[in-house]
Amino acid sequence: MEEISDKECRGGGRLKDEQNDELNKLIEIAGERLAFSGRTIVLTGAGVSKESGIPTFRDTDGIWQKYKPEELATREAFMANPTRVWKWYRDRALSVREKKPNPAHYALVELEALLPHFLLITQNIDNLHRRAGSKEIVELHGNIERFKCFEHSHPYELSSWGDEPPICHCGSLIRPDVVWFGEPLPQAELECAFAETEKCEVFLSIGTSAVVKPAGLLPYIAKRYSAFLIEINIEESEITEITDIFLRGKAAELLPKVVELSLIHI
Ligand code: NAD
Repeated sequence: MEEISDKECRGGGRLKDEQNDELNKLIEIAGERLAFSGRTIVLTGAGVSKESGIPTFRDTDGIWQKYKPEELATREAFMANPTRVWKWYRDRALSVREKKPNPAHYALVELEALLPHFLLITQNIDNLHRRAGSKEIVELHGNIERFKCFEHSHPYELSSWGDEPPICHCGSLIRPDVVWFGEPLPQAELECAFAETEKCEVFLSIGTSAVVKPAGLLPYIAKRYSAFLIEINIEESEITEITDIFLRGKAAELLPKVVELSLIHI
């Protein structure tokens, strides 16, 4: 009995070694492709912030499991009960502010400094890419640290979160500058994301299920325009079958390795 479990154990160990070798090879190829890329797009989703302690959209412990999105993250919800929606965002924003960027966010800062024509497109609203130091960012779904008025989108500087939404100089209530369910994405950001994706040589998708559209369409556009498509995710997503390289694992662990290996070629 002992002998069998020992064998099984060694067999399991060998399989793991082989899987690690395979992953390391793929990481090397990804690093090399990035190093020689003339135009690079990185698309991030909630998974990139997971190791910072922010739940993803579809996690079982995710924020949306506890609340119905249509009750809180919509224009109708805000009109019906602005205080409730404001307080929910206040709690989320204050919780996010306590979190720190993780090694995946910092690896992207490094990659931006190394590569020509680098653009980071994010679906995240947590502001962690900016806090880490990324510069060229397109925020497709807004930013929880930014504010505008409900009626006219006048920008607003919030000094501190209170219990009620403040009032804009035009008389309208202030809301977080994030894209709510049923709202269109910001036009300029969307156009930029699609135009740049059409031109890129390497497209790196990190920690997104690619279920939320139109952001989830970007990897398909990249592929249609012949980009080399790399994905980092802990599990297969909608786009895995069209990727050239799929790196299975945590962004905070794999991305620093990819960047380290691309450095060898630069
Ligand atoms: P999603 O929850 O639909 O998908 C998350 C993806 O990340 C999944 O494919 C999952 O397998 C993967 N993942 C989880 N942990 C990972 C890790 N450690 N490393 C690598 N991958 C990991 O999220 P989405 O695709 O970004 O779309 C959800 C929407 O919800 C977006 O619109 C986004 O704005 C919003 N959202 C944002 C935040 C944030 O700002 N941090 C958090 C939750 C949701």
